[in-house]
Amino acid sequence: MKKAMRFQECDATEESRLTALRTVLEKTKKPFQRGDSIGIKLHWGETGNKNFLSPVYAREIVKWLRAAGIKPFVLDTTVLYSGGRRDGREALNTATKHGFTDDYLGCEVLIGDGLDGKSIIDLPAGFQHFKTVQTGKVIQDADGFVIFSHFKGHMEAAFGGSIKNISMGFASRAQKQRMHADAKPKLIVKKCIKCGECADVCPAGAATMAGNQFPVYDLVKCIGCAQCIALCPETALKIKWDTDINVFQEKLVETAAAVWKVIQNKTVVINALIDIVAECDCLPGNHHKIAEDKGFICAYHPVLADAEAIKHIGADPINKAHPHIPWQRQFEYAKEIGFCS
Ligand code: SF4
Ligand code: SF4
Repeated sequence: MKKAMRFQECDATEESRLTALRTVLEKTKKPFQRGDSIGIKLHWGETGNKNFLSPVYAREIVKWLRAAGIKPFVLDTTVLYSGGRRDGREALNTATKHGFTDDYLGCEVLIGDGLDGKSIIDLPAGFQHFKTVQTGKVIQDADGFVIFSHFKGHMEAAFGGSIKNISMGFASRAQKQRMHADAKPKLIVKKCIKCGECADVCPAGAATMAGNQFPVYDLVKCIGCAQCIALCPETALKIKWDTDINVFQEKLVETAAAVWKVIQNKTVVINALIDIVAECDCLPGNHHKIAEDKGFICAYHPVLADAEAIKHIGADPINKAHPHIPWQRQFEYAKEIGFCS
């Protein structure tokens, strides 16, 4: 069953998308028991983001689980940066604003690492970068998961799908920081208009502006969240990797692999290849499309699901959106550490 995979194509209409999702779900065998408590791990979008997946799709997954006597709930975890999801209460407010309510979905919406971000556990990992990995405790509490991911571009991983949803998505805030820690801002002075946005959004007080000077970045204080880089209106900041650029890809995969060891026997992975934009749903704004809608993939392994998504989209749109990111390293490294054969 690990290699089983379903794909159902759709066009950009909501009717076509919903039909495709229902079809692919109907054909997917559930590795769950009646009465199981199953978390639907998704991303309900940062405040101001216009590209996150509508809750209408999560509601279909809830119905699919309920029809089999399963008890679903929807979850995400708190994040590093300022915005609408830094602590659990803010994150639930953002979920509500984006339509992810208990009433609409037909199940509870909760925060996987607790409202205060402290409901966390350490998992054994034993890898090169991480000997242990810290995640939301929800991975221990639930009987299983549906990993529901919006497949799209990402500024540090080049693409974001199931691997990233499991890795960054379940990680505690500290673990998120450990993964991001090597990405620091570098100013392209000639592009900077001194607007101060980077200093305003910096959650660590590392980006500062004095008078009419160019911004400065204290790279000791910097937690590498990349928020300033993502939100600079002039693209005047680029990522300066403290280490080899491959390290972020490897850390992402190690975290996903450690989580996967715990959840693999009772998890379905779904990639939604719709509204395929250049950037993550973590960023405010309306990001440009890099590919047309393709459909939905249901699988039982995140690496296989993401590889399949790239087959449908093609590598070119990802390479064009994020030309200098060695995203292929995620697949190579997954094999090297035995995450995926
Ligand atoms: S956000 Fe960009 S343009 Fe504005 S001050 Fe910072 S680096 Fe300069
Ligand atoms: S300076 Fe560092 S901590 Fe501050 S927003 Fe930029 S990347 Fe994040």
